[in-house]
Amino acid sequence: MARILIVEDEAALSDILRADLEAEGHTVSQAFDGPSALALVESQQPQLVILDWMLPGLDGLAVCRRIRETHLMPILMLTARASEVDRVLGLEVGADDYVVKPFSTQELLARVRAMLRRIAFDARAALPYTATGSAPPAGGSIAHGPLRVDPVARSATLDDAPLDLTPKEFDLLLLFVTYPNRAFSRSFLLSQLWTDDFDRIDRVVDAHITRLRKKLGPFGDRIVTVWSVGYRFEP
Ligand code: CA
Repeated sequence: MARILIVEDEAALSDILRADLEAEGHTVSQAFDGPSALALVESQQPQLVILDWMLPGLDGLAVCRRIRETHLMPILMLTARASEVDRVLGLEVGADDYVVKPFSTQELLARVRAMLRRIAFDARAALPYTATGSAPPAGGSIAHGPLRVDPVARSATLDDAPLDLTPKEFDLLLLFVTYPNRAFSRSFLLSQLWTDDFDRIDRVVDAHITRLRKKLGPFGDRIVTVWSVGYRFEP
């Protein structure tokens, strides 16, 4: 069971979702605008965020972007806009999934269940979902096509041939394969992987991505540049 934050300014809808999620055993908190959502993310470290797009003040996209500067927890966007462009944009700011309004609560609960199954829950994890703080998925290595990454042995192979990666390159690759299809901003990657460095500039990230892509050969194309944001791994 998870700590879930609902960010929705329609109180009636928020209360319905809260009741349904609590009935499933989750611990639920509510925010009714963007700024208080950001404050609750910091103070409560929710394990999943349900985030409405249309909010007063700071909208859901901006909230999503701000959360993604420092956190990895799954974000489910609620939106009344069904157009393709908006959906892609929602994913590019770092949301994991979305539900288009109006939706049935059964549909929403099914999405939440699926998202919670996908993340590797760590019993210790009162910790935020950071690259360093979250547990690697249980059960050994992570495979995407010809690529296999072993978080415990800190080794990676491509077509069964070992990859010669620096520690930073390995950390980047592990983050990508653990969270496929998620866009990571350069500032997020810097804040998570370059904590001990003094010269933290965005171009450091780009340089490491370039080298990592080269080492992955043709498979390096799967690390996609997300324009004006950063990078995403598409398995
Ligand atoms: Ca709303």
